[in-house]
Amino acid sequence: MCICGPRPGPSQRGECPVSGTAGKTVEILTVKALLTETALRRITNSSYRFCPEPACDVVYFTENGDTYGKADLRVPVWQKEPFGARILCYCFGESEAGIRDEIDAEGASHAVERIRALIEAGRCACEVRNPRGACCLGDVSMAVKRITATVLRTVEAGHR
Ligand SMILES: [Zn+2]
Repeated sequence: MCICGPRPGPSQRGECPVSGTAGKTVEILTVKALLTETALRRITNSSYRFCPEPACDVVYFTENGDTYGKADLRVPVWQKEPFGARILCYCFGESEAGIRDEIDAEGASHAVERIRALIEAGRCACEVRNPRGACCLGDVSMAVKRITATVLRTVEAGHR
């Protein structure tokens, strides 16, 4: 939920100072890996959180009220982009568009199985590639379900 307008003062309870959304802790290594060259010049040794609110421009914020927006990152943050063509897996590039093409061509997407096999082989790098600093598998699994439902609805509409 977006509570519009900035809230004064530092975030005591881990809430985004702009949207008031509860933020999940991320490692400073993740923040350092993903900030642009310019944004990295103002990073401080603090504890960082990720704001998941889609309507909020803030990606990272600190307990001191420092914020880093979408333009401060080297990659698009899918949570803050419109549904349809977003890259969900920052390690191996699985995207909504790719999942949709796969469902159109083969009737199902095996993105989750592909990622799981790569994770098991020790090849994922979520802590330095995914802005959230955590594994994308749950997100990709939800996206496959959502896109499958969208494709089925389109097919049904086409038969009417
Ligand atoms: Zn926010």
